[in-house]
Amino acid sequence: MSSSVIDFLATEARFGARNYEPVGVVLSRGEGVWVWDTEGNRYLDCLSAYSAVSQGHCHPKILAAMVEQAHRLTLTSRAFHNDQLAPFYEEIAALTGSHKVLPMNSGAEAVESAIKSVRKWGYEVKGVPDGQAEIIVCANNFHGRTLGVVGFSTDPETRTHFGPFAPGFKIIPFGDAAALEEAITPNTVAFLVEPIQGEAGVIIPPVGYFTKVRELCTANNVMLVLDEIQTGLGRTGKLLAEQHEGIEADVTLLGKALSGGFYPVSAVLSNNEVLGTLRPGQHGSTFGGNPLACAVARAAMRVLIEEGMIENAAKQGARFLEGLKDIRANTIREVRGRGLMLAVELHPEAGRARRYCEALQGKGILAKDTHEHTIRIAPPLVITSDQVDWALERFATTLTQDLS
Ligand SMILES: *Cc1c(COP(=O)(O)O)cnc(C)c1O
Repeated sequence: MSSSVIDFLATEARFGARNYEPVGVVLSRGEGVWVWDTEGNRYLDCLSAYSAVSQGHCHPKILAAMVEQAHRLTLTSRAFHNDQLAPFYEEIAALTGSHKVLPMNSGAEAVESAIKSVRKWGYEVKGVPDGQAEIIVCANNFHGRTLGVVGFSTDPETRTHFGPFAPGFKIIPFGDAAALEEAITPNTVAFLVEPIQGEAGVIIPPVGYFTKVRELCTANNVMLVLDEIQTGLGRTGKLLAEQHEGIEADVTLLGKALSGGFYPVSAVLSNNEVLGTLRPGQHGSTFGGNPLACAVARAAMRVLIEEGMIENAAKQGARFLEGLKDIRANTIREVRGRGLMLAVELHPEAGRARRYCEALQGKGILAKDTHEHTIRIAPPLVITSDQVDWALERFATTLTQDLS
């Protein structure tokens, strides 16, 4: 390690809140699926900033849109109209088949905004008595880090000593439609759920789960809120993960790849009723819907479609999954994934996943461990067959080692 690397790490440790434990690499440049550290070493990015960089690092067309817009107009606040918001609405609504759009910045803000909106809908449209609205969520969920959201997390690390928390949330097991049926009451306004639980370790629910969930929500007038902040925009090989199940959410949350990693942009997409309850002065964000964000998001959506990234995610995801399944290693307990949202779960005896991620780093691959024993793999959607094969060779040699 050169002195410059030690300096970056030591300075971060000295001044920064230690709320992350990053892998010991300092990145300074990215292009497509590749990133380079300060010493010029190249790595295949198998995290894509938790799927925010799905379009590949520094995509030239998104970059051009950002620079062009930054020269013209960056922020007006919503006190005035800007000429990027209307086309952004039109394009995201057309792409996703949504009726109403609420632009925000981070993913957690989109989740918070959805919670506020479905509660308001519950009181003003469904007729739930004021203050009684219930929202059902799943165990092992990840919906962000704000106070409202961590209050219904089931991860002790996420919650401990951050309370008191807001009431009104009921937690049920993920993938269990019977539990949902049992939990719904006349005061239930929404079921908030990830199509695939990403942070929990890429947990895919049983076949038919979401069909049953959709039926239950419709039958009980409960809004189905799908958090597609990670699964959406092509990550799983379809535009939205809900399409694998042939269902449609009432409210869909997008973030991360909505900007291709250039800028925080998120959105709540809904039917007419839910976002229709918001009136001037009842919700807002200084940066939400700003012209720079809208221009970036428009370009990010455009390249995703024009450059066939969603189809490529399906194709390369299948190739990656098959290749991982073909690796014969005693360390591997299970390989799972959909599209380019993949995970290798190790046997507990194989040692911590972080050790394997460090070994992969030495071979030119950056992947991220999650929950001790799982390696998550989510490269940019622009990855090629040759690059998948290149990665698979390195996964094979790493996973056949014993690093316990
Ligand atoms: C990342 C993520 C969030 C939170 O997004 P931030 O931009 O980090 O606030 C919420 N839900 C899911 C499913 C996510 O993956």
